[in-house]
Amino acid sequence: MRIHDDRYHRERLRFHVALRFIRLEARTHTIRYWTGLTDDRIRKLYRSYLVDSKERPVPRHRGKSPQRVATFLRSAQLREQTALLASLYRLLGLLSGGPTTTATALPPTLRRAEQLCQAYEVYRSLAAEPALSFEHAIFLLNALTRADELVCSACRDCSAVVVIDRWSLRAARCSLCASEAAATAADRTRRLAAGQGGLQDFLADERPSECERGSRPAVPAAAH
Ligand SMILES: [Zn+2]
Repeated sequence: MRIHDDRYHRERLRFHVALRFIRLEARTHTIRYWTGLTDDRIRKLYRSYLVDSKERPVPRHRGKSPQRVATFLRSAQLREQTALLASLYRLLGLLSGGPTTTATALPPTLRRAEQLCQAYEVYRSLAAEPALSFEHAIFLLNALTRADELVCSACRDCSAVVVIDRWSLRAARCSLCASEAAATAADRTRRLAAGQGGLQDFLADERPSECERGSRPAVPAAAH
């Protein structure tokens, strides 16, 4: 009886996760990978629960899932939202907060699939204009788990989580600190041009960061 109950609960959870993925506009092959349902059962689920329901129609996307990590670093807005997602992954235990090591993607489980949905739903509620799709969010989690192209790091000024190119030589800054640093630099340039400052003002900002001195600051669990 216990085995029967466990199996029934697991099947219900599998369909629940699949529905959540459908609502978040995941592709069929993504739902199959995370839930183990066949394409046929996913299509039936989509038709029976969502097409006939009073909920807003959910678009179905076809083709390949996102595959380019450059997308996450393309603009200040995308870098900020990528860092937000990475922070949520850490908070929910989808990513470890320890030192980055190259690892293969962890096997899909229904528990991790639920956490992934939760992280993405919170991200959508926090971001003013969410620019990353659920498929991007899944791709980001895999990329950060592999850590062969993108890694989590800490902002040199405030220690917030940032996501950077693994091979970047620049000390990482979050978008907030980067814009403050740019404003400060512009102000110094203006004062230098007006004969009100000296080169020491620029050199002061070029002191090595904690990371560059070798004592990396602790990465907090959440971004700003
Ligand atoms: Zn910062």
